[in-house]
Amino acid sequence: MPHEQISTWSRAASKPGSLAPLRGSKYKMIDAHLHVVNFIQETPGGDALLHYMDAANIDKSVVFGLPVSKVWTEYDREAPDYYLANDSPCYYYSYGDVIVAEMYRKLKPEHQARIYPLICGFNPVDRYALRHVERLYDQYPEVWSGIGEILLRHDDLTAFTYGENPRANHRALFPIYQFAADHDLPVLLHQNVTSVTKNDHPTYLHELEETLREFPRTRFIFAHCGMSRRVNVPFYHQMVERLLATYPFLCVDYSWIVYDVVIAPNGVPNPAWIELTEKYSDRICLGSDLVTKFERLGPELQRYDVFLDQLSETARANVCWHTAEQIYGGNKGKVVQAQPRTVPAWRTLTST
Ligand SMILES: [Zn+2]
Repeated sequence: MPHEQISTWSRAASKPGSLAPLRGSKYKMIDAHLHVVNFIQETPGGDALLHYMDAANIDKSVVFGLPVSKVWTEYDREAPDYYLANDSPCYYYSYGDVIVAEMYRKLKPEHQARIYPLICGFNPVDRYALRHVERLYDQYPEVWSGIGEILLRHDDLTAFTYGENPRANHRALFPIYQFAADHDLPVLLHQNVTSVTKNDHPTYLHELEETLREFPRTRFIFAHCGMSRRVNVPFYHQMVERLLATYPFLCVDYSWIVYDVVIAPNGVPNPAWIELTEKYSDRICLGSDLVTKFERLGPELQRYDVFLDQLSETARANVCWHTAEQIYGGNKGKVVQAQPRTVPAWRTLTST
C-alpha cells in the first residue's frame, strides 16, 4: 500500500518529461490489486476510477476496500487518513464491501465488465467470518469475483488492529478457504513472510505453507509475494520460486514495494526475477496496490515497463493481462448459479 514517494519516480535527464509516467504503461494491462476504499472508508467513486484507468492505459481492475477502519480518537487533533498517520488503532469494518458493491452497481454494464470486485470486510479471526461472505454473495450475487485482500500478518497494521493477530493458518479462515475451493473462487492474501525485526529468515512463511497444504484446491494469490515495508529476507526469488514449484494452485502478484526492493531495485530488473517470471508467467499478475489516489495509477504501473520490456511476448502478455483474467475473470454469479451440494447417497448397510 504505497504512501511514500517511489524511488523509480525520480526524474532522469533521459526521460522525455516529468508528465510522461501519467500515461501509464505502454502495455495495456489489468491492475490486479487496487483498493478503491481507503482507511477511513472513503472512495473517490467509480467514475473517477474509470477516468484514471483510461488515462493510465488500464483496461480492467481487480478492486476491493479495506477490512479495517482507522479510529479518529478523541485526543488526536488531526483527523487521520491512513493507518500510519498516527498511533490510533484500527477496527474491523464490514460496510466497505457494501460501498464497493454499490459503487459497482452504479456503473454501466460495459464499465462493470472492466471491474472485478472482491469481498474483504470481515474479521479474519472470527469463526463467523464465512457468514459475512455468504451474506454478501446473497445480497450482491452478480458483483463479486472472489475474496480478498485478506489482511493477515501485516507488521504495523497488525499491531494497530484490535484483537487477536490474524494469520493465514487461522482456523476461522478455513471455512472461507473451503467455500472458495467449492466455488472455484480466488482468495487474495496479504501475509508478510516475516516480522520487521527478523530479516534473516521468513518467520511467518510456515503459516502460509500450512494453509497451502491444507487447501490444495483453493486458488490463493500471495499479495506482493509476502513483502511489506521493512519486511525482507535473503534468497527472496528462490523462496518465491520454491513456493510456485511446490504449490501448483498458488499465484502471486507483483505489486507495491516487492518490485522496487527485489525485482527491479533502482529501476534495474534483476535477471533472476526475469527468469522466474518467464518460467511462471501464467501464475503471476501485476498490480498497483494503491489505496484510492487513482491519479497515481499511471506512474505506479509505468514503472513496470523496464521490466516488461525484457520479457518474452508470451510472458509479458501473461503478467500484464492473461493471468489476472484467468484468475479473476468469469467468476461473477458463480456462487448463485452453483448447484446445491449433493450428499452422496450412501448405500444402505445391510448385515449379512
Ligand atoms: Zn493491498
